[in-house]
Amino acid sequence: MALVRDRDGRRLHVKSRLMGESLVSRTLIDGLKVEPQVRLFPDVDVLKIGGQSICDRGVKALPAIIREIVANKPNHKLLLTSGGGTRSRHIYSIALELGMPTGIVAKFGASISEQNALLLAMLLSAWGGVKIGHDDIVKLPNYFVENCIPVMHGMPPYDYFAIHPAKGRLPMHRTDVGTVILADLIGARSCILVKDEQGLYDDDPKKNPKACFIPSISAGELIERDLDDLIIERPCLEILKNSEVLDKIQIINGLEEGNITRALNGEPVGTVITRD
Ligand code: ADP
Ligand code: MG
Repeated sequence: MALVRDRDGRRLHVKSRLMGESLVSRTLIDGLKVEPQVRLFPDVDVLKIGGQSICDRGVKALPAIIREIVANKPNHKLLLTSGGGTRSRHIYSIALELGMPTGIVAKFGASISEQNALLLAMLLSAWGGVKIGHDDIVKLPNYFVENCIPVMHGMPPYDYFAIHPAKGRLPMHRTDVGTVILADLIGARSCILVKDEQGLYDDDPKKNPKACFIPSISAGELIERDLDDLIIERPCLEILKNSEVLDKIQIINGLEEGNITRALNGEPVGTVITRD
């Protein structure tokens, strides 16, 4: 790339397509040709182990899930993330009552989800479970060469910089979002959210027994339906819609043995939310 000087000679630029642009212009972005996104780790399966839905059930849910993860380890490169769950909700409500800003609430959430990552890594330690941080993503190949099962907490590292939502002060980007962003970043083979319901319904099945199961739906259609409650954090849908590398997010019931294996084998168990 050549160095060029402004006409008045005062500013020096490195000549590139973005030279002198604000990077805000719609015309620029519309006309900008970008190479397709490289899939960094296309053979890695990203699995989020729910906080409230799974981890909080402790011994009633985790041993069976750990067994199933271990059974799948020989055939899959698994990268686990963790949710926060009930303890996050507890500190969120205390923080909101005390007027804490969103960034503080998000920081609390991250530390709880980190507790669950530690718990999962310890439960898996005999089979290579290792707790990793966000900066360790680039070391994934090393972990897999060493036969590890890396476990990362699911909150995206916006932390104090979590943005204020339109309503209320709960951070919008929590552990589902962190997991989907991670899967998009690495161009993962799959993105599977392990929770405690068969998948997505048209209403919360715990509150409405007449709720109808939705086996498959596109992100756009689900955004359009604008349901009152979802089993997945809303921003995940936009992230999937805009992804160049993820074509679906799968939500499965981890309390039913065999579902993790089926999802990893590409079976349409649970709900599949597609990009298109
Ligand atoms: P996690 O701990 O994995 O983040 P959450 O408890 O946040 O899980 O979300 C899963 C819960 O979402 C389910 O247990 C279910 O009760 C609830 N839920 C709300 N709306 C829906 C819906 N439309 N379809 C299915 N489940 C829903
Ligand atoms: Mg949740």
